[in-house]
Amino acid sequence: MAQSQTITKPVTATLDALPEAKRVLEVRKPPRGHWVGDGFPVRTIFGYDNAAATTPFLLMDYAGPYPFPAASKRRGVGEHPHRGFETVTILYSGEVEHRDSGGGGGKIGPGDVQWMTAGSGVVHEEMHSWDYTKSGGSFEAIQLWVNLPARLKMTKPKYQGLVSADIPDVALANNAGRVRVIAGSYEGHKGPAETFTPMNLWDVRLNASGGAAFIAPAGHTTSVFVLSGKVTVNGAQAASAEMIVLDRQGEAVRIDAESDSKLLFLSGEPIDEPVFGYGPFVMNTEAEIRQAMTDYQSGRMGHLA
Ligand code: MN
Repeated sequence: MAQSQTITKPVTATLDALPEAKRVLEVRKPPRGHWVGDGFPVRTIFGYDNAAATTPFLLMDYAGPYPFPAASKRRGVGEHPHRGFETVTILYSGEVEHRDSGGGGGKIGPGDVQWMTAGSGVVHEEMHSWDYTKSGGSFEAIQLWVNLPARLKMTKPKYQGLVSADIPDVALANNAGRVRVIAGSYEGHKGPAETFTPMNLWDVRLNASGGAAFIAPAGHTTSVFVLSGKVTVNGAQAASAEMIVLDRQGEAVRIDAESDSKLLFLSGEPIDEPVFGYGPFVMNTEAEIRQAMTDYQSGRMGHLA
């Protein structure tokens, strides 16, 4: 046993200092796609049928990548309402224009994010921009539905147009890649989105063979969605359009890329309240959904100018 005396490094002390890894609960495969209007060929990566796994995120539609030919008529989705949550649209390629009855509106292009709080209710349209319609080209976007706690579901509608230049772009060590901080914070860099509850939303790019450890607060639901590439997340492999769902417990999320990878990292403080949704409305009870339908039909969510 004399040999063991030559090992002098206090390895245990270092290991004890590492935060506990979040356990992988599931690797979700993408479902079949469907069209939202004529502008958004989407796959619904998750919905709120199992809200506990992803709360405060209720739903995620992954649109494209899809090659739209040049056209003379704008594609998109016409006037429709929302109540009780926020829609967050992240553009990777293409261009989208939005108008809502709360007076919000704007155009977002690659790298930009639109953060719309429907709250008590808006009517809006989401269309390809005229320039993009005329040029055509690849379209790729993500739309997230972010829940609002019961006490804030009827908050005043709000619109945040977050342009690429306002989103911190943080280089990872060892040329592993970079992190764009849309919401929350990464290593002290704060994202521009104003959120009602604590959450992190990071646009992560890893270079082939690059890897990094990310920290999401213990108690946060945490997921990693792979737009493109191939990665290992805390030991589980995932490729394009797959999502890794991690446990609320623990903090560390180790991601290693086999090829150049584009990822969306989501973590958030859970809103553990009843979720009752119907179409474009997500409330807490059936009675609130009936009220939302009445309010929309009677014009109380406004109209587009
Ligand atoms: Mn909408």
